[in-house]
Amino acid sequence: MNDLLIRDAEVGGRPRTDVLLRDGAVAALGPDLPAAGLPVLDARGGALLPGLHDHHLHLHALAADSASVRCGPPRVRTADELARALAAAAGDGWIRGTGYAETVAGMLDSTGLDALCRGRPVRIQHRSGALWFLNSAAARLVGLDTATEPGVERDAEGRATGRLWRADTWLRSRLPATGPPDLTEVGAALARYGITGITDATPDLTDTSLDALTRAAASGAIPQRLNLLGVPLGRASGPEVTVGAYKIVLADSGLPDIETLATAVRRAHAAARPVAVHCVSREALLILLAVFAETGTLPGDRIEHGAIIPAESVRTLRNLGLTVVTQPGFLADRGDDYLRRVDRTDLPDLYRCRSLTEAGVGLALSSDAPYGPADPWQVIEAARTRRAPGGAALGAGEALPAAQALGHYLAPLHDPGGRGRTVAPGVKADLVLLDRPIAPMLRHPEAEAVRATIIGGRMVFEQ
Ligand SMILES: [Zn+2]
Repeated sequence: MNDLLIRDAEVGGRPRTDVLLRDGAVAALGPDLPAAGLPVLDARGGALLPGLHDHHLHLHALAADSASVRCGPPRVRTADELARALAAAAGDGWIRGTGYAETVAGMLDSTGLDALCRGRPVRIQHRSGALWFLNSAAARLVGLDTATEPGVERDAEGRATGRLWRADTWLRSRLPATGPPDLTEVGAALARYGITGITDATPDLTDTSLDALTRAAASGAIPQRLNLLGVPLGRASGPEVTVGAYKIVLADSGLPDIETLATAVRRAHAAARPVAVHCVSREALLILLAVFAETGTLPGDRIEHGAIIPAESVRTLRNLGLTVVTQPGFLADRGDDYLRRVDRTDLPDLYRCRSLTEAGVGLALSSDAPYGPADPWQVIEAARTRRAPGGAALGAGEALPAAQALGHYLAPLHDPGGRGRTVAPGVKADLVLLDRPIAPMLRHPEAEAVRATIIGGRMVFEQ
């Protein structure tokens, strides 16, 4: 079953290596293995690598994103372009927009959005994922004015402004029920990149979302190994998925006090779950480090994003044994914006990579898709060049050689800051075959070079 001989691959830098896959694992490797009647895949000298692991993304948001109107750069740059994009939206009911940036038409609210589109209910997500803007028709339909949800922003007179902060679950409960989106396309797209393992970092998964993710893993819609950070404490999962660290969001719109956060960390640790704390700003990091100093850390505790890490905190991260799961892909996506908007003094602290690894801090790379580019090869290129779309480099001293950046995509799902996996006898046959040796790929990382992706010995993508 699914046994396969891969001929003439480059493995760990050694050319002309044959690799035998048996029962979902790598059974043997070496020169000139006998085919013994097995199907043979001729690698033609291409590199055979462990499959990539994206240590932080959001599957349902990624699927919903493809059915949404793009409301930010590069496709939409001005208020006029946004009005045109909304007018061209398919269908006649709700319009869902994503990827909005203030450079398009400032901080939107209901009034501002009505001026762009008032005929249909519109909700637009800020590209950070932290904020929704609703036009008046949408605000009326979800009952924004009378809502008690704390994420509903209100003006001095108590009227809802149309901005909704970190209240996705509430918003979903007020929208027409459609159920979670199908994940087949997303799973296939990730397989084309050579991704064989995923950590979904969506916090506070509802029963519906958790069931849908589990079913997607069971049916093969998501062929990758699937690890979930948003499983509520005390909940078990089915055997199709694994339960990871417990996701806690430090929202910059309302940072918690130290005692509240310490209680949340202690609850997770008491349930034998490390924590994965969304932490973007300097203030959030300082609060989190103060909390860890009080609660102590568990192996597996991780910081998601670490967008700003001051130099003086790097040693503390190391001493606490924390792993930083970060996304240099944002530099390639939004770097010009960072150059304009991020405080000059913060720029050297932005999406650190090299200084973390040199200090011995565990580092994992990831996409945060759909908020950052999903393609790991783009992220590896961004880690290598740190170039903004306009060409300027951000924090060039934090650049990683491409080989090292790739290594940060190869760590086990449950030890994202650990050593990269290798192709060796006995390991799971989660593999990616390139159409070229590794050296040219590292000079120009590109997803088009992925020729086949194998998970548990099963071919999930081949071209
Ligand atoms: Zn995220």
